[in-house]
Amino acid sequence: MDSSNPVHARRPRLGVFKLASCDGCQLTLLDCEDELLAVAQAVDIVHFPEASSSLMPEGPFDVVLVEGSLSTSEQLEQLHRIRKNARALVTIGACATAGGIQALRNFADHAEFARAVYARPDMLPILAKSTPVAEHVSVDFELRGCPIDKRQLIELIAAMLVGRAPVIPNESVCMECKRRGAVCVVVTKNQACLGPVTHAGCGAICPAFARGCYGCFGPRERPNTRALAQHMRAQGLTGREIARSFRLFTAYAPEFREESERHES
Ligand code: SF4
Ligand code: SF4
Repeated sequence: MDSSNPVHARRPRLGVFKLASCDGCQLTLLDCEDELLAVAQAVDIVHFPEASSSLMPEGPFDVVLVEGSLSTSEQLEQLHRIRKNARALVTIGACATAGGIQALRNFADHAEFARAVYARPDMLPILAKSTPVAEHVSVDFELRGCPIDKRQLIELIAAMLVGRAPVIPNESVCMECKRRGAVCVVVTKNQACLGPVTHAGCGAICPAFARGCYGCFGPRERPNTRALAQHMRAQGLTGREIARSFRLFTAYAPEFREESERHES
């Protein structure tokens, strides 16, 4: 984009950044095939390494999308620079909002992993834990998912452009399951499903394909994880199986972390 063009100069300046992550959430933006041209015309994308070789990491930005968790001291320094240069900061995906799959190391002896993999682990600038962005800087909105859902991303961008709050309901996957007409896998197959405590957004993909939700969108607001765990016990799951159910892509989200720790043995 040519930001020297006086028409383009009035458009909001967008930056897209990656910390510790797999790039899947950034790809969701590129995957918005029908909407991408409109987005590119509505905003000035000044920094998006995955899509452009023209980089401007220092901004300034009206909005930044940040993917990934904090795993190294370099990423922490980068995050503070991003926050300083951005008017609004939005985290995208399970890594940025809950620490991601890499946060599983927080439950184990990370130094032992590093010794097993690297010849000189002492040279790695690794932080003691892999943590979500909001543990370090203020965040204006969190978009969930592994990866994020493109309809929610477009809604977020559209809302930001006109200065309104995004319409992203904080309801459970069960609500989407019902709207989709999917058959409940708990009721009909006695499968374990995190749908009742998981934030909606995916359209209930897994139950629609006859398997339980494993919580990749993270906990919904005020999730009743205790009641769900009790139901899992009644279904015949062991404490270890319940702990593992809550310990996947969003294991370090406080509500799922606490429930998994209750069932560790
Ligand atoms: S299958 Fe899971 S997400 Fe769907 S209604 Fe049943 S419990 Fe809820
Ligand atoms: S049903 Fe659950 S695990 Fe499957 S995509 Fe949706 S939130 Fe993720």
